[in-house]
Amino acid sequence: MRLSRNRHWGHPLTVGFVRDLAAAAAKAGLATLYIGDIGQPRGGRLAYGHASHQTGLDVDVWLNLDAKPAHESAAARENIATPSLVLAGPPPRVDPRAFRAGHLALLRLAATRPGVDRVLVNPAIKQHLCEIVSGERGWLRLVRPWWGHDSHMHVHMRCPPGSPSCRDPPPIPPGDGCDATLAWWFSQPPVPPVRPSTPRPDLPAACVALGRLP
Ligand SMILES: [Zn+2]
Repeated sequence: MRLSRNRHWGHPLTVGFVRDLAAAAAKAGLATLYIGDIGQPRGGRLAYGHASHQTGLDVDVWLNLDAKPAHESAAARENIATPSLVLAGPPPRVDPRAFRAGHLALLRLAATRPGVDRVLVNPAIKQHLCEIVSGERGWLRLVRPWWGHDSHMHVHMRCPPGSPSCRDPPPIPPGDGCDATLAWWFSQPPVPPVRPSTPRPDLPAACVALGRLP
């Protein structure tokens, strides 16, 4: 989506995930997926709050299951909106008129693809999953609450093999996450608190070298 942003570039591992997820979603009878930001060519700086999209290992998948063939032109993809699945509250909660079985199916498919480290969603969506998922719940552990993310999920891939300078984030604690760590989010503001601006760290030398390539 929004091809003009030029953020549809990712590590082959991430692109493979997108293709794998899309094939699994099609098999499950879901509509064509809307894929949001991955990264810029060769990574590169992104604004505060979006810095995770610099390594090619992160991709936003919209939680919009209403794709139509008419949406596929590049021009159409500039303007399609993705509605929120969350009512603001307080407390925020999933909109029962918006959240469908297909959303549950898509989140489960994403969290169970190989190579996925974690899937970030709004705390209200995580809470809803905690309440409705029956049977195998192991995948719920990978679905983590974060600010925003009420209309898309953010998928982070584990470091690819053979990338010694890649660092995975701290491991996810054991359990399904339907606990006090989730409850904490409901005491937080709906958007992240503004941090005092700090200088950005210098780019690693390997990244600077990439930026010099023609
Ligand atoms: Zn994201």
